Formats: sequence, C-alpha cells, structure tokens
Amino acid sequence: MSQAGGQGTLFVISAPSGAGKTSLVAEMLRADSLLGVSVSHTTRPMREGEQDGVNYHFVSREQFEEMIGRGDFLEHADVFGNYYGTSQVWVRETLAKGQDVILEIDQQGAAQVRRLVPECVSIFIVPPSAEVLRQRLVGRGTDAPEVIERRLDEAEAECSHAVEFDYLVVNDDFDVALDDLLAITRSCRLKMSVQQARFADLLTGLTGANQ
Ligand code: GDP
Ligand code: ADP
Ligand code: 5GP
Repeated sequence: MSQAGGQGTLFVISAPSGAGKTSLVAEMLRADSLLGVSVSHTTRPMREGEQDGVNYHFVSREQFEEMIGRGDFLEHADVFGNYYGTSQVWVRETLAKGQDVILEIDQQGAAQVRRLVPECVSIFIVPPSAEVLRQRLVGRGTDAPEVIERRLDEAEAECSHAVEFDYLVVNDDFDVALDDLLAITRSCRLKMSVQQARFADLLTGLTGANQ
C-alpha cells in the first residue's frame, strides 16, 4: 500500500490500555475534519455504552478467523486473549480518497503496519506514571478488577516498545497532549511530498505563469 500521489497519511497510535488514546483520538476527530479513524474488528465483549460499528465491529471468534482466512485484515493481533484487527479495504479506500487515517492499535499491530506501510507515521502515548495509569483504568469503570490487573501487567511490555515509534506524547494534561497530537498530524500534512500532490495545479500555475 503506497501513500504517494495524493494519498492520505496513515497514522498509527498505540498506548498501554488506559493511557487515554481513545479519548484523545475522539477529540482529534472533532478538531480536525480531515482525519478519520479505522473501526477495528474485535472478539472482546462489548462494554456498556459501546455501539457495534462505532467503537468496534464486534464479531465471534469464528467470524474473525474466517476474515483472517480471506485476507480481510491489514493487520491483526491477539491482545489480552481477544482478537483485534484492522480492515484492509476500508484503510486502502479511505487513504486513496486523500483522507488521513488513524489506526488505534496495539504495538504488535503497529509493528506489522510499519513493515507493510513504511511511510506511515507512528505515535506512542504514555501516562505520566504507572500509578496514574491504574487510577485511570479504575476510574473509567469499564473493566472488572482482574481485567484491569491483566491490562496493567501488559502495560510494561507495551511500553517497552515505545522507542520503535516516531513520536512520543505524554498524556498528563489532556489538552496539552491533544495539542501535541494535532501538531504532529498538521505538520505531516504540510510536508512537501504531501503538499506537492495536493497543490499540483497551484505549483504548476505559479511556476509556469510567465512561460
Ligand atoms: P483500550 O486499551 O482501553 O482502548 O482497550 P480496547 O479493548 O479497546 O483495546 C485493546 C487493545 O487492542 C489495545 O492495545 C488496542 O490498541 C488494541 N487494538 C484495538 N484495535 C486494534 C486493531 O485493529 N488491531 C490491533 N492490532 N490492535 C487493536
Ligand atoms: P485508552 O483508550 O488508552 O484505554 P481511555 O481514552 O479510555 O484510554 O482513557 C482512560 C480513562 O482515563 C478514561 O476514563 C479517560 O476519561 C481518562 N483520561 C484520559 N486522559 C486523561 C487525562 N489527561 N487526565 C485525566 N484523565 C484522563
Ligand atoms: P480495548 O479492548 O480496551 O478497547 O482495547 C485494548 C487494546 O486493543 C488497545 O490497546 C487497542 O489499541 C488495541 N486494539 C484495538 N483495536 C485493535 C486492532 O484493530 N488491532 C490491534 N492490533 N490492536 C487493537
């Protein structure tokens, strides 16, 4: 999957569970109409307040395995004992329309995407401390205590991959972290390789006006 010639930029965002990536990405979408987020497929149970097709496409393990067999996923991974995966077709079609796409995926998926789409831009979000991470997971009130313990255990392993990403954002003050994320997406959009395709006619007009 190439991003050349008027294609949108693919952003990959990972973080330990509870770091705030879902809340931050939701605000990024509100602030920037050129951004879209990929809705993953998952086999984990739906949380209260979640909607099928909005937060995730919730499917059974059988359905997920059929989709793997058909090659429907750009990447997929087993996270906390559940399958999660990104639709290949949706991502490809959305980038082709020139829209930027965010993938909110775990570090295993991020590594797969970096191999498949080397020009993607990857961002890792961390909480200000392990204690704050625990407080956020407990405060969110969506997971059972044993699920929270499992997610905290996994957080260390997830964070050990932070250095593989292009950017690091610390989510201490929410608005500062949001600003940092929007600065990254905005500056990527201003790159010459991206702007050149978007403003091809303008550049031609400006350089060829007196010929
Ligand atoms: P959260 O950590 O509170 O957002 O919990 P979720 O249950 O929504 O997500 C669990 C893990 O699965 C997180 O690490 C996500 O980044 C990851 N995840 C979600 N969607 C995908 C996906 O499509 N592919 C991959 N590889 N990981 C995903
Ligand atoms: P993730 O998607 O990474 O698991 P969430 O977006 O669900 O994380 O955030 C976990 C919890 O922490 C939520 O209850 C959210 O409202 C809260 N939260 C996120 N960022 C901050 C922040 N900067 N300060 C305080 N609470 C936050
Ligand atoms: P949750 O179950 O709390 O919604 O998500 C747990 C973890 O799964 C998060 O770290 C999230 O980023 C990851 N995740 C969600 N969707 C995908 C996906 O499609 N692919 C991968 N690899 N990870 C995902």
